Amino acid sequence: MTTSSSATDASTAEAFRVVANPNPATEAERAEKLSSLKFGVNFTDHMARMTWSMDEGWTDRRIEPYAPLQLDPASSVLHYASEIFEGLKAYKWADGTIRTFRPQANAERFQRSAWRMALPELPTEDFMASIRALVELEKDWVPTIPESSLYLRPFLIGTDVFLGLRQPMTVDYLLIASPSGPYFSGGVKPVSIWVEQEYHRAGPGGTGAAKCGGNYASSLRPQIEAGKRGYDQVLYLDAKTDTVLEELGGMNVFVVMKDGTVVTPVLTGNLLEGVTRASIIQLLEDDHLKVVERDITIKELRDGVASGDVAEVFACGTAAVVTPIGKMGSTDFEQQVGDGQPGPVTLKVRQTLTDIQYGRAEDTYGWMETIC
Ligand SMILES: *Cc1c(COP(=O)(O)O)cnc(C)c1O
Repeated sequence: MTTSSSATDASTAEAFRVVANPNPATEAERAEKLSSLKFGVNFTDHMARMTWSMDEGWTDRRIEPYAPLQLDPASSVLHYASEIFEGLKAYKWADGTIRTFRPQANAERFQRSAWRMALPELPTEDFMASIRALVELEKDWVPTIPESSLYLRPFLIGTDVFLGLRQPMTVDYLLIASPSGPYFSGGVKPVSIWVEQEYHRAGPGGTGAAKCGGNYASSLRPQIEAGKRGYDQVLYLDAKTDTVLEELGGMNVFVVMKDGTVVTPVLTGNLLEGVTRASIIQLLEDDHLKVVERDITIKELRDGVASGDVAEVFACGTAAVVTPIGKMGSTDFEQQVGDGQPGPVTLKVRQTLTDIQYGRAEDTYGWMETIC
């Protein structure tokens, strides 16, 4: 049995009809929210929505007031975690235009996540159309202070009212938008990582490559335990041998060698295939660095950090962009990476990427999608 959007909705990305919020934020309220930006705390006045059923496919494309959902308590998302999500950002450029970064890649990943979780695949045209419709309507919510953006969160939930375990027969797609500041407050500050030797985030044949809510719920206990030990983030090893680096709870990882080679874990099916990861590989290669996707063992990393062969380690993802790793440790070791400060390769690739995203450098890749 496969789940996919049925032939009846071979989508033409019909227009999203707008049901305007009768009580939108006043200009003063919006200005207030846009002046003290945190990550993912405030939301705009509207959300985009579509409904899917096994019988009718995708219907009812609409923009409606942002509001609590009415869900039957037996809805499948509440019991069996039938949920997937995406995360991308809209940026306001100095010329006043609003752009998103590689949204098609998110649209395609959303389909792969849906397939794995037996949820219907949203046509990429509808994904893109929902983003266009909502961001254009909410353009005054895109912040302009440095490092800020309108964070977009598309997600699918199973709304099937049934306690039996089966593929959801009814699903809602929602897109909400949150004017946000940097994910980690305090600028480009190195974080410390706890190398997890007890828990795993993914295993062969599991859901590691899907952006499904359950992956993140299960990452919270290891995150809390690492926090108690004074570490900011968790680095997971592979579940089969407990020796090979995979990724952080929500970010991919890169290792920069002293000779300039950059290494990142190969996509094994356990890792989430980051859009930022793919973009960074391209940027580094175009900067004439050698990038190798391969297995990296924790032993190689520890030895390299100790000998100085490993010069820098950084993590990356849409929310936090590029984050230097200054320290790593576990039950049996603790090491500073380099001098503990952000390294030159980390800082340069971060700058190059954000320059493209914020329109400070020419986008020679065609990565930026103009919304309005
Ligand atoms: C979302 C995510 C990433 C980063 O993906 P981007 O497309 O770069 O935002 C990396 N790892 C995990 C586990 C993620 O959920």
